[in-house]
Amino acid sequence: MEHVGIAGAGLVGRLMAWRLLREGCRVTLFDKNDRHSRDNAGLTAAAMLAPYSEVVRGERIVFDLGRASLETWPRWLAELEADTGEAVFYRRQGSLIVAHPRDEADLERFERQLRHKVVPQPGAVERVGPDRLAALEPQLAGRFRHGLFLRDEGQLANDQLFAALERALLGKGCDWREGVRVERVEPGCLVTGRGPQRFDTVVDARGLGLRAEDRRLRGVRGEVLWVEAPEVSLDRPVRLMHPRYQLYIAPRPGNLYIIGATEIESDDLGPLTVRSGLELMSALYSVHPGFGEARVVHTRAHCRPAFMDNLPRIESGEGRMRVNGLYRHGYLTAPALLEDALGLLAGKPAGEAAYPELVHGGA
Ligand SMILES: Cc1cc2nc3c(=O)[nH]c(=O)nc-3n(C[C@H](O)[C@H](O)[C@H](O)COP(=O)(O)OP(=O)(O)OC[C@H]3O[C@@H](n4cnc5c(N)ncnc54)[C@H](O)[C@@H]3O)c2cc1C
Repeated sequence: MEHVGIAGAGLVGRLMAWRLLREGCRVTLFDKNDRHSRDNAGLTAAAMLAPYSEVVRGERIVFDLGRASLETWPRWLAELEADTGEAVFYRRQGSLIVAHPRDEADLERFERQLRHKVVPQPGAVERVGPDRLAALEPQLAGRFRHGLFLRDEGQLANDQLFAALERALLGKGCDWREGVRVERVEPGCLVTGRGPQRFDTVVDARGLGLRAEDRRLRGVRGEVLWVEAPEVSLDRPVRLMHPRYQLYIAPRPGNLYIIGATEIESDDLGPLTVRSGLELMSALYSVHPGFGEARVVHTRAHCRPAFMDNLPRIESGEGRMRVNGLYRHGYLTAPALLEDALGLLAGKPAGEAAYPELVHGGA
């Protein structure tokens, strides 16, 4: 049985570990933090699965990965439920983009750019007027004249996903080494403070943790707020066109909403700044006054791990693999990307990967 060592128990590391255990591998998983730590991008994210919204500023391949992953997530989550007995919140009811009258030109430009980048499936991108908008989200009735409904987009609850993966990993006998920093990743070997740990293959999934030794990687800071808003009822993620960034409101069970996210070229992992908090909250209040009475449950900030082209990379070499650079698209792209990574680990040639342009040599 193949024994795989994985460095990093964030989004990529946990998913890889779980899939490998399901394939019958032995897995030893290292993370510099304990398994309940929130010090990672994966638990800071809003976990929206939004290929159409993202393609406007992103690359076509991210859209393709996102579309494919939207098909894979339900299967993976059903398998995870079978492994753990618990369902992870996952919804695919589309998302809505709205703009205040002064920003309506931005919304039109956004739609033009979207249609220039991809040819949407029939009905996948719908310009909506006041009546349709009110039917989709009754609480936004009368507040916006126009919107864009992106029918195929979805979201999942990443805190539930992390917890379910933890249960599945422990249930399947994963050897989880908590609070152990991996200092170097060598072929078939993870070097920790306790010396070299040898495996048949190793996977480097340290996210931003790789930056200290690989300057191609950068952090893109993002800040989010979690609010509890009993007076607000939204069924699907809503984005607001905003001069500096798109504000999004991602509903979670229990009247909770994740509000995000700033996007700042910085490696700063410090807490939310007053300026960002003010910007996010004033934009939020402009969407629905009921948010005025919302309680801020917590704030989070972390950095998205990104290469200069903002594309993910699978770097594959003898006895080791690196998966990194998922930027703002970790949840959007992980299932499709990791199916390629898992195929390579199983010995499939790089040329047979579904996304060979993301596979590179020399990990
Ligand atoms: C504010 C924000 C909002 C986001 N929103 C979305 C969204 O809506 N949709 C979406 O698809 N994506 C979103 N993302 C992006 C997504 O979170 C990331 O792409 C994804 O988490 C990257 O996964 P990763 O496993 O590479 O990194 P991480 O999830 O950060 O995991 C890396 C892990 O490696 C560990 N580690 C680091 N260094 C070491 C070391 N030396 N030794 C051992 N362990 C180490 C860390 O402790 C951590 O557990 C968002 C990100 C942010 C910050």
